[in-house]
Amino acid sequence: PLFAARRQPARPILPRAMPYRSTEQAPRASESPKRTDLPATAHRKMATIKDIFAVIKGREEPDRYVILGNHRDAWTYGAVDPNSGTAALLDVARRLGIMLRSGWTPRRTIILCSWDAEEFGMIGSTEWVEENLGDLQSKAVAYLNVDCAVQGMGLFAGSTPQLDKLLIDVTRQVKDPDVEGKTVHDTWSTMNGGINIERLARTDSDFAPFLHHAGIPCVDLYYGKEFPGYHTALDSYIWMEKHGDPLFLRHL
Ligand SMILES: [Zn+2]
Repeated sequence: PLFAARRQPARPILPRAMPYRSTEQAPRASESPKRTDLPATAHRKMATIKDIFAVIKGREEPDRYVILGNHRDAWTYGAVDPNSGTAALLDVARRLGIMLRSGWTPRRTIILCSWDAEEFGMIGSTEWVEENLGDLQSKAVAYLNVDCAVQGMGLFAGSTPQLDKLLIDVTRQVKDPDVEGKTVHDTWSTMNGGINIERLARTDSDFAPFLHHAGIPCVDLYYGKEFPGYHTALDSYIWMEKHGDPLFLRHL
């Protein structure tokens, strides 16, 4: 019976109307109208990865760490993932540098992290968290993550409950990059269904080891949602310049 069934001509699978909307709603491979063979070659080899850190020692509580991080490796050009986050992190670093030169010092220790090998499974951040687990569990106050920081309009945030109020308060002090004379809080409360903080439980960026392995309060921030070119060659500077953030103000 098995062979008899095989001799039957294959029933054509009719293409179904399925308009493309987002990465989550795109047709699954099993629903696609044609069968395609995709040969792939991968090299199995050892490679060295490098995490990069900058530490600003705290004045009053040097043994309390506020940690900011973003990854540096990309699938393709990485204009959104991760370089929009890197641009934001570097701009924070630049401004902290200006403040330090003017004599300012932070109350607690600030650690800036540029992670390697995130796309391979959060390897850079996970290794570091595992290596420093005891130290981080007793001293880290919060881990603030950026990754696909700019993928369009509107602020989106995920956090653990301890940081909700702080996050909302801070947005009252930040100018909105898109609307003159408004704060981020003003536009956040009117766009995308209002202030809605996602309860952070995902594992798809470098907050994962801090959150799930070490139990440290975490925040993940981004402008825009559901970037259609995610992990493709369309994640380019050209896309960012044309669609993502033409004035690059959301990067600051
Ligand atoms: Zn990423």
